[in-house]
Amino acid sequence: MNLHEYQGKQILKSFGVAIQEGVVVDKLENAVASANKLSEETGTEWFVVKAQIHAGGRGKGTVEETGSHGVVLAKGIDKLEGVVKGILGGHLETAQTNGVGKLVNQVLIAQDVYYPGDAEPEEFYMSVLLNRDSGRNIIMYSTEGGMNIEEVAEKTPHLIFKEEIDPKVGLQAFQCRKIAFNLGLSGMAMKQMTKFVSALYSAYEGCDASMFEINPVLKTSDSKIIAVDAKVSLDESALYRHKDYAAMRDLQEEDPIDVEATDAGLNYVNLDGNIGCMVNGAGLAMATMDIIKLSGGEPANFLDVGGTADAERVEKAFNIILKDKNVKGILVNIFGGIVRCDRVANGIVQAYKSIGNIPVPIIVRLQGTNAIEAKEIIDNSGLNVHSAITLQDAADRVKEVIA
Ligand code: GDP
Ligand code: MN
Repeated sequence: MNLHEYQGKQILKSFGVAIQEGVVVDKLENAVASANKLSEETGTEWFVVKAQIHAGGRGKGTVEETGSHGVVLAKGIDKLEGVVKGILGGHLETAQTNGVGKLVNQVLIAQDVYYPGDAEPEEFYMSVLLNRDSGRNIIMYSTEGGMNIEEVAEKTPHLIFKEEIDPKVGLQAFQCRKIAFNLGLSGMAMKQMTKFVSALYSAYEGCDASMFEINPVLKTSDSKIIAVDAKVSLDESALYRHKDYAAMRDLQEEDPIDVEATDAGLNYVNLDGNIGCMVNGAGLAMATMDIIKLSGGEPANFLDVGGTADAERVEKAFNIILKDKNVKGILVNIFGGIVRCDRVANGIVQAYKSIGNIPVPIIVRLQGTNAIEAKEIIDNSGLNVHSAITLQDAADRVKEVIA
């Protein structure tokens, strides 16, 4: 589950990570009062206004309605309202929003942390994530912060460092110092960075994150190290033990189909293909996607309906699959072990009639307990549903559908 920057920073702060302080605002009329309060707390006179959407590249992005960027400096409280106006309520398009602007419902008004003194501030990159090859967490970091990290990886890969953490002993103090050293820091800044990395890693473990990306991590001219941006993703499987984080979910930022599937308790992943599938069990779902590919089709989704493939769940699953306009046919592949095939077949027929006009053919392979009875139910239904008993039958039917 992805979080907004302000939410990510809130979590980081609770674990002792130094952040750029700010207040989140969803109404223009609250902007000035909130900013004044921030000034009292932090002493800042300039503010940076940051669109809160689930996409990066906001600084270089453009608000469709106003032409403003998504991250803008307001040099004084008198400039603030105008800057907020340019961003809040508009649609921000960035390199990561796939060509459509995202509605900005909230902005973060943050303290300006770049010019407390005269010297140049330095921007670093830092992320924490799981290295799936080694099965260990790594801290990835670079002196080239503030920029697109993919570009850094492509052009100057030697400027990206990785530090792997042994889960038996956790992050060690020498590793934190090594990171600070590799970033070219010394003295006070080195000390601050060591603290920063250590707090960041305990935050990562403590909140059950799946990814942190802090770009930029800033070294201010007075040698403070702070998180200026925060991209935080949490492991959804661990949310049950973080009720307060679960409440941070912003449904408006998520694909409505995904939200519907989650609510229905379906394990659903949308894909680019043309054959929808509905399967019980993740392993069978993977095998079914393989069959579709071998038949020349492309799976339009992964969908595991789980153990109880009753009429209601089947109907919900059909409805979700049919929202995808690329779907030319649906392959239902269900193994009846505990759930009997004839019950599933009745469920499919009932769901079909309840939805009404299903515009694409459905291929149903029911195998296991009462498979023969199930085939009869499908064959006698008079609907645009084709039964198959073997995987080969199912594959042949898929071929016909896409021909
Ligand atoms: P992103 O573009 O979505 O990654 O948003 P960021 O939070 O990284 O902000 C974009 C850029 O805005 C940063 O790389 C900084 O250069 C700049 N920025 C962020 N905070 C401040 C600030 O307090 N003062 C100034 N002057 N610039 C800032
Ligand atoms: Mn950033």
